Amino acid sequence: MSRVYNFSAGPAVLPEEVLKEAATEMLDYRGSGMSVMEMSHRSKVFEEILHEAERDLRDLMGIPDHYKVLFLQGGGNTQFAMIPMNLMKNGTADYIVTGQWAKKAYEEAKKYGNVKCIASSADQTYSYIPDCSDLPVDEDADYVYICQNNTIYGTLFHELPDTKGKTLVADVSSCFLSEPVDVEKYGVIWGGVQKNVGPAGVTIVIIREDLIRDDVYPATPTMLKYKTHADADSLYNTPPCYNIYICGKVFKWLKAMGGLEAMKARNEEKAKILYDYLDGSRLFKGTVRKEDRSLMNVPFVTGDQELDALFIKEATAAGFVNLKGHRTVGGMRASLYNAMPKEGVEKLVAFMRDFEAAHRQEG
Ligand SMILES: *Cc1c(COP(=O)(O)O)cnc(C)c1O
Repeated sequence: MSRVYNFSAGPAVLPEEVLKEAATEMLDYRGSGMSVMEMSHRSKVFEEILHEAERDLRDLMGIPDHYKVLFLQGGGNTQFAMIPMNLMKNGTADYIVTGQWAKKAYEEAKKYGNVKCIASSADQTYSYIPDCSDLPVDEDADYVYICQNNTIYGTLFHELPDTKGKTLVADVSSCFLSEPVDVEKYGVIWGGVQKNVGPAGVTIVIIREDLIRDDVYPATPTMLKYKTHADADSLYNTPPCYNIYICGKVFKWLKAMGGLEAMKARNEEKAKILYDYLDGSRLFKGTVRKEDRSLMNVPFVTGDQELDALFIKEATAAGFVNLKGHRTVGGMRASLYNAMPKEGVEKLVAFMRDFEAAHRQEG
């Protein structure tokens, strides 16, 4: 067996310990005589898996009792519609557009009400986070929406926007569980798990109870109402059982690693290794304003498309895979999610140094 260093933006690297443990339980989950994939979602054994996963997530994030945790399907793109359908009372919402995912959420929300973009970084290819200290938040806004970590462009809201008292809704897909969060600053925190938490197919929604309503957008499908899933404790219909089980194992792994404070320290250390190298390099450079850099997704370029392509090819051959930047941006992107070991980043940087030395000579 040989494992690569996988820098994919998602689906992405998972902790090896989790994969190994799942492998040992594949044929017989703890004496049940079957795989978690084969069991009824109404069985006691699966209900325990689900409840334990929720308990561990609540512990990790310090989720207060007046927030519900929902394990849903449909991915991030379904949330782009569920958020406005469920949260608009006045039919008004404000969006901060800091990348492609925020823009998609904004465009989708327009279908359901009066939606405005109150800040954007599109003028500089989303390479920074706009000043959000004094935004023109609508008095009637039902919520203010952000994408907290911009997976494609590699920016992070290190500080949350001033929403002037309005409910904050955040897509945290690509920074989920990467550092501690103060849940009470948000009305809704949601993320697709396939970036930093687990296998594609689960979307976790953490929502303050007073935002869960029956009087949602007219003709909202039953499956797209948060209330449906909240009332049924995420068992309204068959949930993605196996994927939830893997998420639960990742939560246990995070707890064993020391929780989110420890993950933050580890993630900062890893990101610093790459950013410090980029800042000193004469070949590679980061594309994001320094104070807005993501700890999770690090885009960089050489400035020469052919050289970028050669780098990606040679890196792949050396076992550093999925470094190609998003198709809309080009260049490279290294995603350094929780499960990427520090050693992977150190070895990548050593490889980049060698590449730089070889190509500076030519140039
Ligand atoms: C990947 C991603 C999405 C889209 O998720 P899907 O599950 O593919 O719909 C949305 N938001 C962010 C921040 C992402 O990284």
